Amino acid sequence: MNAQTIAFIDLAAQRKHLDGRIEAAIARVVEHGAYIMGPEVAQLEQQLAAYVGVRHAVSCASGTDALLMVLMAHDIGPGNAVFVPAFTFAATAEVVALLGATPVFVDVGDDFNMDPGSLERAIEMVDRTDLRGRGVIPVDLFGLPADYEAIEPLAQDHGLFVLQDAAQSFGGRRFGKTAGAHAHAAATSFYPAKPLGCYGDGGAVFTDDENLADKIRSLRIHGMGQGGQYDNVRIGITGRLDTIQAAVLIEKLAVFDAELAARGEIACRYHRELRDVVRVPPVPAGVASAWAQYTIVLPCERAAFAAALKAQGVPTAVYYPRSLARQPAYMHCPVAPGGLPKTDAFAERVISLPMHPYLEAEVQERIIGAVQAAVAEA
Ligand SMILES: *Cc1c(COP(=O)(O)O)cnc(C)c1O
Repeated sequence: MNAQTIAFIDLAAQRKHLDGRIEAAIARVVEHGAYIMGPEVAQLEQQLAAYVGVRHAVSCASGTDALLMVLMAHDIGPGNAVFVPAFTFAATAEVVALLGATPVFVDVGDDFNMDPGSLERAIEMVDRTDLRGRGVIPVDLFGLPADYEAIEPLAQDHGLFVLQDAAQSFGGRRFGKTAGAHAHAAATSFYPAKPLGCYGDGGAVFTDDENLADKIRSLRIHGMGQGGQYDNVRIGITGRLDTIQAAVLIEKLAVFDAELAARGEIACRYHRELRDVVRVPPVPAGVASAWAQYTIVLPCERAAFAAALKAQGVPTAVYYPRSLARQPAYMHCPVAPGGLPKTDAFAERVISLPMHPYLEAEVQERIIGAVQAAVAEA
């Protein structure tokens, strides 16, 4: 127990690396005083749209609000079904249920992302009920963009919109497109632990659809119309991104590509040294993960493995310990025919290793050694 404890995600190291730039950016906002929708918000939105390669980036208060507002813009409500993977963070299904619609759970494939076969079975099942299928929310889990080449045509055939949950994949790529540009609309999160994080909650919607972007801009300020804040043309929310968070994000975006490269190198090293010991995350050719998490599948019992790593000062986390379909809040929701066998297996056996751009080589070495030893002893 004497080994020095490693950070799972080291935001302090990032702040040190940025050497006062974040503090200065925050101080400028405190000084100019435009705390709501200040100039940094529009500046960040331009930079985000250029980075992702879409016409519109609309910033908002969280990744959850980004998902929610796209569903609101599509008038999702009671009687509607929206297909979501069962192996994801609760927010993906929560926004559907919050609007009175029904989340329908789909299984995932070996890459941890929505399985198009399971999706097709779920769509056909819903077609035989009173529910009306409206949309699909594929999740780019752990930073790896989902299989949009398979999902898009399925969705089109059945008249469903696709909303990319890119909360974990900002910076990821798939066949020449950046995460956020793979579907009609995408939602990302700037929660501090995400690849691009702010100093609180934040998020954004990405789309090429001007009409949708305008609706989101209205929804995030109480459904305001052309006449401004006191002209309310639809039911909206308080969904704005704080100017201070935009200022933080502008500074972090400037070093983001270097951070992404550092994450990629660490993932490569983990892959090389651990592929014979555990199941390492698969990355299909032509696809690049943003490495929000480096998640392995264990050949041994998880609790003992986690305890062995902890004893060496190596923290781990479990994303996610339970299928959403087995959570009390979602147990009544429909599940794709054939069930969710991959989701259940992963929920029992996945574990994530420390991953952040400032993880030093010798620390990576210690983590790799601890994983190898823990599996050998199990
Ligand atoms: C983090 C996350 C969200 C929600 O983002 P918040 O900014 O925390 O609201 C949604 N979906 C997935 C897959 C996430 O990981």
